Amino acid sequence: MIGVAVLGSTGSVGESTLDVLARHPERFRLIAIAANTNAAKLAQQIRTWRPAYAALADERAAGELQELLGNAVPETRVLAGRGALEELALLPEVHCVMAAIVGAAGLRSTLAAARAGKRLLLANKESLVMAGPLLMTAVNASGATLLPIDSEHNAIFQCLPAGAVCGHPPPGLRRVLLTASGGPFRDTPAEALGAVTPEAACAHPNWVMGRKISVDSATLMNKGLELIEACLLFGLTPERVQILVHPQSIVHSLVEYADGSVLAQLGAPDMRTPIAHALGWPDRIDSGAEFLDLLKAGRLDFRAPDTEKFRCLVLAQAAACAGGLSPVVLNAANEVAVQAFLERRLNFPAIPAVIEAVMERATGGAIGGLEDVLAADEDSRMHARERIGRLTATAGVRGAHA
Ligand code: NDP
Repeated sequence: MIGVAVLGSTGSVGESTLDVLARHPERFRLIAIAANTNAAKLAQQIRTWRPAYAALADERAAGELQELLGNAVPETRVLAGRGALEELALLPEVHCVMAAIVGAAGLRSTLAAARAGKRLLLANKESLVMAGPLLMTAVNASGATLLPIDSEHNAIFQCLPAGAVCGHPPPGLRRVLLTASGGPFRDTPAEALGAVTPEAACAHPNWVMGRKISVDSATLMNKGLELIEACLLFGLTPERVQILVHPQSIVHSLVEYADGSVLAQLGAPDMRTPIAHALGWPDRIDSGAEFLDLLKAGRLDFRAPDTEKFRCLVLAQAAACAGGLSPVVLNAANEVAVQAFLERRLNFPAIPAVIEAVMERATGGAIGGLEDVLAADEDSRMHARERIGRLTATAGVRGAHA
């Protein structure tokens, strides 16, 4: 029995993980689940799964959760506060941690799981973008097993030779090709982007995901974050990662080898496939995803991304090349700008404008330790909020209403 903790269990990846776990009760035991504020959904999950532990980072919501549960599930201990997530990641009966919290909020628990030598299923790409060198060092030092959940990185991992480990490119690997759907605005004229709504940005053509990553997909920042993630996970320079727009989202990514061979992983766009791959690895287990019918799919198209229209990708490429604290700045400014867009305080084209302004002001530098990462994160968030405040005082950058 493999003990599992799902951090971010109320989210899109979290729910898909529970769906896969439910198919294999003989193999996995859900020990702990955690979220931020969604007491109602967590209470429902606790009633279904009866895990030993459940936590909400938000203390008030944790109180609400206790009230909702009453004495109905005495076997579940409810924890509260941000520190509780790290506690869950460290439990000795937890062998496998699904890191599916969105954004920088997932950093500490992800790092804790890496330091404790767990099998770490990494969906929370922001923690790797922010603290990649620290996270990879922790994985190497503790002997943790790092398995990527992002469908693209999971695809790349699947195309590596058996025995390959994250952080070390196998001999003969020339480059990786990261695919991108292009998001909901792939074919929208640049002039029309000022009027797009959060609802339109979150209506991804192929994937059902949380709101933040949906907006990141629409701006192509998601691909930028994934570029940084790929460099760290597979020990590559940014020049060895090519980005391809592939509207069908069937080829999840590819690896090119020195002999000219290109290996790809294909599948229906369903996160349960990479989740099941990482949960079962090295075995293959049922995921519940539909099997791919290539005759029905018909064609597979590829084209270069439009970097004039999607400036976030260029900004992320610059941060990837600069390294050090630059990705921290990029990520923090992006999180703040995306939140402002979702709250209709900022329009879509202003997202890269805010990030660029924050990056221009940042001093960068190397990552000495976690304190540097947290300080740069806080500083960049403050600059981003200031910039948004100044921008919204002028006309024309407020978000559009549905
Ligand atoms: P969702 O927004 O659907 O879910 C986010 C989860 O994180 C929720 O459980 C939420 O809890 C929790 N959370 C948010 N803030 C905090 C906090 N401060 N402390 C503790 N928990 C918190 O996101 P997704 O599932 O879409 O994405 C999760 C991660 O996986 C992201 O990093 C994303 O980039 C990555 N990813 C997602 C994919 C997808 O298909 N969705 C694909 C590849 C990667 P609550 O519900 O209480 O707010």
